[in-house]
Amino acid sequence: MGQAQRVNCDEALIKLMDGNKRFVDAMVSHPNQNAEHRVLLGNGQAPFAAVLACADSRVPPEVLFDQGLGDLFVVRVAGNIINDQLLGSLEYAAAHLHTPLIMVMGHTSCGAIGAVAQGAELEGHMSSLVPAIQPAVDKVRGMEGDLTDNAAREIARMTADQLRTSDPVLAPMVADGKLKVVAGFYDLESGIIKLL
Ligand SMILES: [Zn+2]
Repeated sequence: MGQAQRVNCDEALIKLMDGNKRFVDAMVSHPNQNAEHRVLLGNGQAPFAAVLACADSRVPPEVLFDQGLGDLFVVRVAGNIINDQLLGSLEYAAAHLHTPLIMVMGHTSCGAIGAVAQGAELEGHMSSLVPAIQPAVDKVRGMEGDLTDNAAREIARMTADQLRTSDPVLAPMVADGKLKVVAGFYDLESGIIKLL
C-alpha cells in the first residue's frame, strides 16, 4: 500500500512505543504529515496500529504516539469501552487493512470512569456508558490505590481480553499470529504509556 512498509505485530508495538518515547522526551518528529504523504494516501491506507482510546481531549493517540496521517486507525469513545459498532470498526482495521496491532488505551483521571466510580447520576445518553464501565469499577473496588485509575486499568485489560477472544474475526487472527492485542495506560502528566 503506497510506500507504507508492512510490519508484524511486534514491530508495530515497538514503532508505537518508540513514538511515545519521542513524545515524552520532547523529540517529536511529526512523521507523515506533509502534502506529499497526503497525496500518497489518496491511494489507500495501511495503518500499522489501531488504537481504541478515550474521547478525552487530553489523549489524542496521533499526538501521544508521534504519528501522522495513515499511521493509526483510531477509535475513540468515552471510557474506551467496546460495543458492536466499535468492534466492527476494529475488525475492519484488522481484517481488511491488515493492521497487525490493536492497543486499548486507558488513561489516568478518566472523567467517564470517575463518574461511574462515584455513582454519579448521568443524564441522557451518557447513562448508556454505565453498564460497560460498572463491571470494572466493581471488580477493583476496595483495592489499594485510586479507584478511578484502577478501574481505568481494569477496563483497558477487560476490553483487550474481549477483543482477543472475539469471534469470528479477531480471535482467529490472534491465534494465527496475525494480530496482537495489548492494553496500555496513559499518564496525563508524564505523557508515558505503560503496557499493562
Ligand atoms: Zn477518559
